[in-house]
Amino acid sequence: MTTSLISLDNIVKDYRSMRALNGVNLEIEPGITGLLGPNGAGKSTLIKVLLGLVRVNGGSGTVLGHQLGREGRAIRNKVGYMPEDDCYIPGMTGVEVVQFSACLAGLPPVEALRRSHEMLDFCGMQQERYRTIETFSTGMRQKAKFAAAIVHDPEFLIFDEPTAGLDPEERESLLNRITILCRQAGKSVIISTHILPDVQAICDHVLILSNGQIRLSQSLEVLNRPSAPTIAVKTFGDHEAFVRTLANEGTTTTIENGILSINGDSPNLADQIWRIANSTNTTIQSIQPAQNSLEEIFMQTVQEATHAPS
Ligand code: ADP
Repeated sequence: MTTSLISLDNIVKDYRSMRALNGVNLEIEPGITGLLGPNGAGKSTLIKVLLGLVRVNGGSGTVLGHQLGREGRAIRNKVGYMPEDDCYIPGMTGVEVVQFSACLAGLPPVEALRRSHEMLDFCGMQQERYRTIETFSTGMRQKAKFAAAIVHDPEFLIFDEPTAGLDPEERESLLNRITILCRQAGKSVIISTHILPDVQAICDHVLILSNGQIRLSQSLEVLNRPSAPTIAVKTFGDHEAFVRTLANEGTTTTIENGILSINGDSPNLADQIWRIANSTNTTIQSIQPAQNSLEEIFMQTVQEATHAPS
């Protein structure tokens, strides 16, 4: 049995007459959780609640065993947070920004400096660390914010839009760092993002928040798995006879962007496909188990939430 690191029960958060969180129930288990939702869904508010930075109007919860609302400082000592927006004091160098963050978390200055260099090394920052942070590129600022979030060796990490504005190489490196922190250092992570391929690349679990409520909480493995065995096939040339024969044998084929998604009951669907390809002189270019599209799941969940009574 896995234990929940975070457990929320019917959390409500209002900003005056605006209800930002409307009865959030949530269990977060170890691993990497992707937090998705359209703008205004309540993601940032949920993160602020988890960090104990805003007072809730209803409900209760625990983060790493600490009560929300009563033990905010203890929670923040154990949780690392990388905000979406830049937050630094102009004139500080990159290493000073990270050291300042470590000191705020309670590390003595010398230890804070040692840890800061270690984390900036981990983030791949070279001598730029001695430049003032306002001269940094987006990629360097993201690295400094990332290092500041992990410098006090927190158990749990929350990254808000960590890959926003990064080029593909920087994005891949940052996702690799998150994966290393989880798989090798045993940290658990929430990553709030609009970039669905990032979720597909590294997450174990997906949460979809819409209109202040959790509309979906599921492992990525289950989400990816089609309800019936489905195989994605690409062929060279004409596939008309192939698709017709597949249909005659009781399978269903949908075609999108030249990729055939073949769905059937046979326990040996792949063998059946190869046999029919052979008998219809069809050359198979690629064949692999089909995955559900995270984008479709996201769109459908958000649309259903829009029409659901609140
Ligand atoms: P997301 O991060 O998913 O875009 P937010 O948590 O920022 O969503 O916002 C949820 C809702 O709460 C939005 O309608 C937003 O306008 C509102 N909101 C957020 N912060 C405040 C605030 N400080 N004062 C008033 N309304 C707010």
